Amino acid sequence: MNNKIIRKKDLTFLQKLYIPDILKGLKLTIAEIFKPKFTQQFPEERFAPPASFRGRPVLVTENGTERCVACGLCSRVCPSLAIEIQASETESPKERYPVKFEINMLRCIYCGFCEEVCPEEAIVMSKEYLLAFSSQEEAIFGKDKLVKSTTELHDRLEWLRNNR
Ligand code: SF4
Ligand code: SF4
Repeated sequence: MNNKIIRKKDLTFLQKLYIPDILKGLKLTIAEIFKPKFTQQFPEERFAPPASFRGRPVLVTENGTERCVACGLCSRVCPSLAIEIQASETESPKERYPVKFEINMLRCIYCGFCEEVCPEEAIVMSKEYLLAFSSQEEAIFGKDKLVKSTTELHDRLEWLRNNR
């Protein structure tokens, strides 16, 4: 058997001082100072998300009518069990609508599964990302906070049409 022992190469005097490596690091730091900066001064400067951004999920209304038909798919697919729906019947052609639709925003993980599974494009991820609550109850968003018109969600709906 060849039991050859590999020994670490001894450091040179300069390497032992670490000075060349410190200078290399400083050179890199100084070069970065003069490059364009990407840091935003939040909250004075706000991030404007692109259409592909997944902010909080919202319900879509078209001409004042919500698209949701209360099929419950979004609620079933939600991995964090954040969606609660209560369905009811309506005289309109879509026959069913959610009399209650709630999303617990403390549970939501912004995965977008609800948006992906919805057959009516009735729930989509918005650009809203600033959320703050002072109690658990405040974090449960009902239809009053969830409903948004197609005009407000134009960018996202367009993006979904082009990328699905
Ligand atoms: S984004 Fe994900 S976690 Fe949030 S409500 Fe939709 S499915 Fe549930
Ligand atoms: S939002 Fe879509 S998936 Fe969820 S209940 Fe309504 S129609 Fe069904």
